[in-house]
Amino acid sequence: LEEGQIRNVPVVFNLYEFCKEMVDELRSVCKENQQVQYIHTGDSEVCVDRHLLKNVLINLISNAAKYSGEGKDIFLNTAKVDSTLNIVIRDQGIGIPEQDIPYVFDRFFRAQNSGTIQGTGLGLNIVYKYVQLMNGNIHLDSKLNEGTRVSLVLPT
Ligand code: ATP
Ligand code: MG
Repeated sequence: LEEGQIRNVPVVFNLYEFCKEMVDELRSVCKENQQVQYIHTGDSEVCVDRHLLKNVLINLISNAAKYSGEGKDIFLNTAKVDSTLNIVIRDQGIGIPEQDIPYVFDRFFRAQNSGTIQGTGLGLNIVYKYVQLMNGNIHLDSKLNEGTRVSLVLPT
């Protein structure tokens, strides 16, 4: 979660190293016996706004951890294909009811099944705005009680 929209100059960096470091930092948001399994394919040199990307990934991986139980691993896949960066974050958590999916990027929206899990409903709205600032696309698929998959396509 982070408010304020500061657009920085995109720089060239190693996405694989960047994500590995972030996955390490995010061990604190994971449950017992829950890990982020990270795989990168293709060239790992990318050019994007790393500040925006970091906030997007922290929000999405935190959601994946928060809305899934102990022992349910999270999968992070990154791939560079030509001048496009594809990122997928997948969990095996509580999922989102079909009728709620169209609203998940709305400010303050929380799905009906979020129950006692704490949240403000801001994270995905900020993620959506940041992806727009990066001229990218975001898509969320989910199945109740099975899991959620968020895919990002970013120009690089
Ligand atoms: P925060 O502002 O702290 O991120 P939040 O997690 O409730 O609060 P969002 O990240 O915007 O808010 O997500 C909106 C809603 O979408 C959540 O309240 C939850 O109902 C649902 N949701 C988001 N990600 C997942 C996920 N990976 N699995 C299941 N439900 C999810
Ligand atoms: Mg959230």
